[in-house]
Amino acid sequence: MPGFEIIGEEERQAVNEVFDNGACLFRYGFDFMRNDTYKVIEFEKEFAQKMNMKYAHATTSGTSALFVVNKRLGIGAGDEVITQAFTFVATVEAIAETGATPVITEIDSTLNMDPDDLERKITDKTKAIWVVHMMGGPARMKEILAIGAKHGIPVLEDTAQGIGAMYDGKPCGVYGHANIFSFDFGKTMTTGEGGMILTEDEELYLKIKAYTDHGHEDNPEYSRGEDTASFSGFNFRMMELQGAIGLAQLKKLPSALKKIKENYNAFRNQLGDLKEIEFRETPENSIDAGDSLIFFLKTKEKRIKVSDYLASQGIGFKLLPGAVKWHFAGRWSHIWDSIPAYKGKDYLQMWPASHDLLERSIALPVMINMDKDKIDFIAESVKKAVKLL
Ligand SMILES: *Cc1c(COP(=O)(O)O)cnc(C)c1O
Repeated sequence: MPGFEIIGEEERQAVNEVFDNGACLFRYGFDFMRNDTYKVIEFEKEFAQKMNMKYAHATTSGTSALFVVNKRLGIGAGDEVITQAFTFVATVEAIAETGATPVITEIDSTLNMDPDDLERKITDKTKAIWVVHMMGGPARMKEILAIGAKHGIPVLEDTAQGIGAMYDGKPCGVYGHANIFSFDFGKTMTTGEGGMILTEDEELYLKIKAYTDHGHEDNPEYSRGEDTASFSGFNFRMMELQGAIGLAQLKKLPSALKKIKENYNAFRNQLGDLKEIEFRETPENSIDAGDSLIFFLKTKEKRIKVSDYLASQGIGFKLLPGAVKWHFAGRWSHIWDSIPAYKGKDYLQMWPASHDLLERSIALPVMINMDKDKIDFIAESVKKAVKLL
């Protein structure tokens, strides 16, 4: 799971390099003091290269990355943007904060967007579709991209939890028109706080880049003080220390993902033949990043019995069932109360299929540093728990 497990000497060394080269902590300018050290720019280049995409732009967080993409696609009041009922609240905040109305689809057994419900929820106001790869699991991209293409609506990927997940031979986060990543402290790769946007659209990239820096176009013809701008923006700039840490984490990513996947497979092999549980579905031609092992019980009551037993053994969960409040749309009255299309509705009942799935789900975190004894103990505990049903 998280990059915080493997922070060490390499990250410290990368940060020291910034201090050893003039301590310029700002990504732009100050050329006289930085000894040619540009960590954020280097991080963007390496990230884009690794993902085989043309443009990458770093931001302060995954949330700001989502917001900037929405803003620079021109999304605002009167528009609708579709996302899914199971996601981190940020995906929806970043829509609502533009003035647009978030429209929420059900999830299916992939725990991601249900394409049939997506099709039903498209209207002539729909401006974009944010598909989320929750908890390392790929969404049904083929179906979702086809629906987007059919209606001429851009599909965007929230890959904040999906780094390392694969779809049809390519990583998740390269299929949408613009796709975001998060490097907050709980994510598979971390810079403490931070985000990244990937796109192949040069015009959109330049607009995104300018928006995160008050509209500054970083025009090489002018000094920063005289830089050009064509619209107002905001400050969502990543700083050099984050860029440095990101570069170190990016180098460790392949080995971290490999270890996670080994641990995930070890878990899954031990639980594979239990009839009482059903694993979260991975779409055809796709690979789960292995960030957590998720399974469904047949009823909510059975799930409670199993999760209570596991908790009694000191076993922890990841989001499910414990942290649904921040991840299920039915629980977000603090957002819906201020949106006219929602106000006054019975939010908890609006996405019954998603609610049912989430209430029957258990997610066991898969860590990078997890020894065999620990995996065996948790797997044995799950077996014991289902015998009690
Ligand atoms: C973490 C997360 C975000 C927000 O990223 P931050 O860097 O924490 O702002 C957005 N979407 C999803 C699905 C997330 O898990």
